[in-house]
Amino acid sequence: MKKIPILTKAEVEEIVKTHPTPFYIYDEKAIRENARRVNKAFSWNKGFREYFAVKATPNPYIMKVLYEEGCGSDCSSMAELILSEVVGIKGQDIMFSSNVTPAEEYKKAAELGAIINLDDITHIDFLKENAGIPETICCRYNPGGVIELSNGIMDNPGDAKYGMTHEQILDAFKQLRDLGAKRFGIHSFLASNTVTNEYYPLLASKLFGLAVEIKEKLGISISFINLSGGVGIPYKPGEEPNDIMAIGDGVRKEYEKILIPAGLTDVAIFTEMGRFMTGPYGELVTQAIHEKHIYKEYIGCDACAANLMRPAMYGAYHHITVLGKEDEPCDHKYDVTGSLCENNDKFAIDRMLPKIDRGDYLTIHDAGAHGFAMGYNYNGRLWSAELMKCVDGSIKEIRRAETLNDYFATFDHTEFASKLIK
Ligand SMILES: *Cc1c(COP(=O)(O)O)cnc(C)c1O
Repeated sequence: MKKIPILTKAEVEEIVKTHPTPFYIYDEKAIRENARRVNKAFSWNKGFREYFAVKATPNPYIMKVLYEEGCGSDCSSMAELILSEVVGIKGQDIMFSSNVTPAEEYKKAAELGAIINLDDITHIDFLKENAGIPETICCRYNPGGVIELSNGIMDNPGDAKYGMTHEQILDAFKQLRDLGAKRFGIHSFLASNTVTNEYYPLLASKLFGLAVEIKEKLGISISFINLSGGVGIPYKPGEEPNDIMAIGDGVRKEYEKILIPAGLTDVAIFTEMGRFMTGPYGELVTQAIHEKHIYKEYIGCDACAANLMRPAMYGAYHHITVLGKEDEPCDHKYDVTGSLCENNDKFAIDRMLPKIDRGDYLTIHDAGAHGFAMGYNYNGRLWSAELMKCVDGSIKEIRRAETLNDYFATFDHTEFASKLIK
């Protein structure tokens, strides 16, 4: 399966007249279509809601597109709460799934009427003191141990900082009820980027079982179960993508097997996907500005790891298409690099690609989630612009590129200000 770039070479040549590379491009139409598939896959559940994980792509235009498709937002910081607020997302359209939460962020979440998801039992008192206990409250569960899926994906909840133990979460619900809470939810995130249809159903079965236990032991009927994020995307061509319809159906089967017989017939399913909602629908477009022939063949780009950190940080594979050379044979082996003084600043290592010439445009696929968002300023490299290819085919700048003035702005109180900031 070939990965189709969002933009053609001709489109990029037009865009760079006003927006030089590097830039991010998002595909509005594809984001909307995917969101509709997600909603359809869970339409069997009356209360279903996807809360888009804002941290994946914290841009108000993207958030607005998803909000228009019926998604709420999942926040974990002040900035993400404020972004939601300005888009018009508030009240229970916001999940606040934070951890190590500062008091002012709980206050802001409470003020917006967000559903607060407590990461720890000690946060009950902390929330009570700082914002009060709301009627609707969620607790994050960490079952410990390891989770292993049949395709070999493994993750280690027992080693993760998130959530409450089994014993704690039962205690937490008891305390919260005594403090006046009326509607309760459970949340858990066990594994990241799972490219298998069995992850959500497996997680659901664990959380449904817990809901039944909570009903039996405490007499509390859980109102919603939040399966959080972790649904993955195939970064490599040829990898089998998740089938969201099969995933929704797998969760439905567990629901019918575990919740219905226990009399829990009205539980809403929530999700907090980030990667699955936008990952495949955003790309980083960059130009090859140098080639270098030493012990290996290098292509140097005008984007670097500061624009897309995943390959450097996780050794993540991101597919690369050389625009205009889609059909040429991949008979050259390159390391595709950025300009950071860091040898891990490589978008690809030993990658077979068509012959690349200086001036060629490269698009780095599947950068629509945890891409721009994880940017940084090392070596004084600046954040790129974000553009959106709108449903009508037009290109909209949804965030301008950072300038040196922005970069130097935090020296505005110093003796260097007048020389640094133009
Ligand atoms: C990161 C995160 C998500 C989204 O994860 P994806 O892997 O992008 O789907 C959802 N919920 C919480 C609490 C997170 O930290």
